[in-house]
Amino acid sequence: MMKAAFYTLGCKTNQFETQALERLLSARGYAVVPFEQKADVYIINTCSVTAIADKKSRNVIRRARQLAPDSIIAVCGCSAEHTGEQMMRDCGADIILGTEEKSRLPDMIEQYVKKRSYTIPEPIEFFDYMPAGGLVGRTRALLKVQDGCRNFCAYCIIPYLRNKLLSLDLDIAVSEAARLEKEGYREIVITGIEISSYGVDLPEKPSLLQLLEGICNAAPNTRIRLGSLEPRTVTEEWAKRLSRYKNLCPHFHLSLQSGCDKTLKDMGRRYNTARYMEAAEYLRKYFPDCAITTDLIVGFPGETEEDFAQTLEFLEKLRPAQVHIFPYSRREGTKAYSRPNQLTRAEKEDRAARAAQLCSALRKEYLDSFVGKELTVLFEQEKNGISEGYSMEYLPVAVKAREIHNCVCKVLITSAQKDKLSGEIK
Ligand code: SF4
Repeated sequence: MMKAAFYTLGCKTNQFETQALERLLSARGYAVVPFEQKADVYIINTCSVTAIADKKSRNVIRRARQLAPDSIIAVCGCSAEHTGEQMMRDCGADIILGTEEKSRLPDMIEQYVKKRSYTIPEPIEFFDYMPAGGLVGRTRALLKVQDGCRNFCAYCIIPYLRNKLLSLDLDIAVSEAARLEKEGYREIVITGIEISSYGVDLPEKPSLLQLLEGICNAAPNTRIRLGSLEPRTVTEEWAKRLSRYKNLCPHFHLSLQSGCDKTLKDMGRRYNTARYMEAAEYLRKYFPDCAITTDLIVGFPGETEEDFAQTLEFLEKLRPAQVHIFPYSRREGTKAYSRPNQLTRAEKEDRAARAAQLCSALRKEYLDSFVGKELTVLFEQEKNGISEGYSMEYLPVAVKAREIHNCVCKVLITSAQKDKLSGEIK
């Protein structure tokens, strides 16, 4: 039996695509083995969000090549789209496929097994549908409903790599959700490159709201978690209608990037801080204890100390549950790459450290607010008699209990640590 090993870098969309590829190759009789083991085929799904992500992607290819010099290495994803030639020339990759048509990868691998060569598939003009799920643990399935972005934010390379907006047909998405619930998954994560643009390319132009209502109804006993949203999506009506669904996780990842209006404008973001705060307030009105998580870029070209202070002030007002902080990374090919007023590495790192200090205090405050309350937790792993899982708000919770993997339990929270909650099963 041929063995296949997978490695994923980057976002949830990549994770979904890897899950789907695992499923497709298993259906063709491949055994999926851990990446550190010897395999006949290595599939590496790469990321290009920063220059460091490109470098990491190339290092993983080299590692696979060292591990099994005669194996086939197939590389797909954003970094392959961007630096594919270099990956073949310098790192030993055999098959390169970019961001589209990943569902064709199993065919390309089989061609390569037989002839040591492959043909590049024709581009497709519709959503490259790959069945979700297929994981052994059946805890959380990712469901990709959208691909592509045309927002061209000044720092981002994605629209140059995935610029066709493509959405999964609404009826297919809804029946996929029903199937995943039937297969026993306890949580479905709705992913895409920019899910706020869901539906704009489809003939009937369904909205993200319609899609989510359809999915929540089709899988009423499964938690539905949303991927990253643009603030423009969240209106009062949107939050109100979704609050009727008790299976929708009160966890909203709203991209912020900067809390300074001048910087947001320079970044080419399509909202200002007032609109962002309005979206957060609607969410809190209809989902009172919800987790608002976000991303932040510090040290964008031209960001002054005063601009950065405005960002910190905004974060204090917003009180997010968690913030992913990125020092700005110059990306060749983007609008911000050649801007004057680039900050030094030391300046960017200093701002990232200051923002991290504030954000971890805000996170602790959010965690503390749950002590004495009850949370619903999906348990995913167990070690030495301690089971751990995530609440609907995506807070890590630990309890003393065995053999509750994949169970959803009510937990009374008894204490909060720096980045985790502890409690007792009720
Ligand atoms: S919305 Fe902006 S940051 Fe997000 S993928 Fe599109 S261009 Fe990149």
